[in-house]
Amino acid sequence: MKVKNLKQVDLKNKTILYRAPCDVGVKEVNGVLEVKDDLRIQAMVPTIEYLIKENCKIVILTYVGRPDGVVVEKLRTGPHAKRLSLLLNRPVLQVDDCVGPVVEEKIKSMQAGDVLMLENVRFYKGEMEDDDEFAKKLCAGKDIVVFDGFPQAMRIHASTTGIMRHLPAYAGFYLKKEVESLSNLLDNPEKPFTFVIGGAKISDKIDSLNNLLPKVDKVLVGGALANVFLRAQGKKLGSSFVEDVFVDEKKREKKDLVKYAGEILNIYKEKIVLPVDVVISLGSNVKNINIEDEVPDGWMALDIGSRTQQIFSDYIKNSKTVLLAGPMGKFEDEKMKEGTKVVLLAMKNLSGTTIIAGGDTIDATGEFASLEDYTHISLAGGATLEFLAGKELPALTMLQ
Ligand code: ADP
Ligand code: MG
Repeated sequence: MKVKNLKQVDLKNKTILYRAPCDVGVKEVNGVLEVKDDLRIQAMVPTIEYLIKENCKIVILTYVGRPDGVVVEKLRTGPHAKRLSLLLNRPVLQVDDCVGPVVEEKIKSMQAGDVLMLENVRFYKGEMEDDDEFAKKLCAGKDIVVFDGFPQAMRIHASTTGIMRHLPAYAGFYLKKEVESLSNLLDNPEKPFTFVIGGAKISDKIDSLNNLLPKVDKVLVGGALANVFLRAQGKKLGSSFVEDVFVDEKKREKKDLVKYAGEILNIYKEKIVLPVDVVISLGSNVKNINIEDEVPDGWMALDIGSRTQQIFSDYIKNSKTVLLAGPMGKFEDEKMKEGTKVVLLAMKNLSGTTIIAGGDTIDATGEFASLEDYTHISLAGGATLEFLAGKELPALTMLQ
């Protein structure tokens, strides 16, 4: 997939509506609200610096959390503006609204190179409804949309699809890199291509797994996800977490996930690699056991075992492309980090393409390695998985 390139358009002295990816939660530190992490804010910097160099006025639009159409004090964009200002090393102006005369006056008073952060657009109901009048108001006084909201690209909102109906839109550098890196996995990955999948719930990842299975050479399954496959093979898993059914409230459907796992195991026998051993725990007791031995009642499988770590690491070493989505175990627990760490280090040492996706997976990466050790860190969570599932993301369609 190709998106419209920012570098092909004359931006000199234009007023830009920059759709930011920075929907990031906040935490209180000494009575002051701060962003919980700033990866998505760091991701904005190259595009904003480029716009500054082009003498643009930059007006930043984003939502934060789910205030559902009312003002929620703790969901203001102030902490985001503050962190951005630190990263850009220049002031970021603020205004406590995102439409209306006060905002328009503020924009008129801006100089070339000024950066302004608008207030949380989800304080307005019109945002979630993709209200066309509201979208038009968001565009008032701007010339061009620069769109970096890849994590939000699955939404049909005024600040995503709405603004692009009213102004010409181009992809920001962050969005472009996400789309190119992930498209490459789907369209022409260098082979062997290994997909390492883990984490808590298989229901989150079924669609991307289904879409990738025909394209990959191997799928290495770890984390609680592996439990669903092991259960399908009739293994006894004690008190391990197994997501065996998924209830889709919207579609009013129930899905038998163990049955699903059994079916894809049959179809893709040669590709799916499951743990041959696991680390189990009960209270402070920890043991490495073969998967052929039963996990006793009360015990939980919380990491891939040492032989499995070696097997996974060997597959990774022999790959040209590796995608990791989901940790191999309950890595937050001191005794259950090893599987995730071994996989991350094997990927780090690979000279091929290495891509990491998922909030917890990124946290683990930061703990055991450095994010720069990998080809691409995909920051979009749900949108990344939808993209990998081959689904259409409405905002991306408008940027093609
Ligand atoms: P991501 O955010 O990277 O997509 P997930 O949210 O799917 O990852 O999964 C992360 C969570 O999965 C972590 O909190 C981790 O503790 C949990 N997890 C991993 N393996 C297991 C396991 N064997 N049993 C229970 N929880 C697990
Ligand atoms: Mg998660």
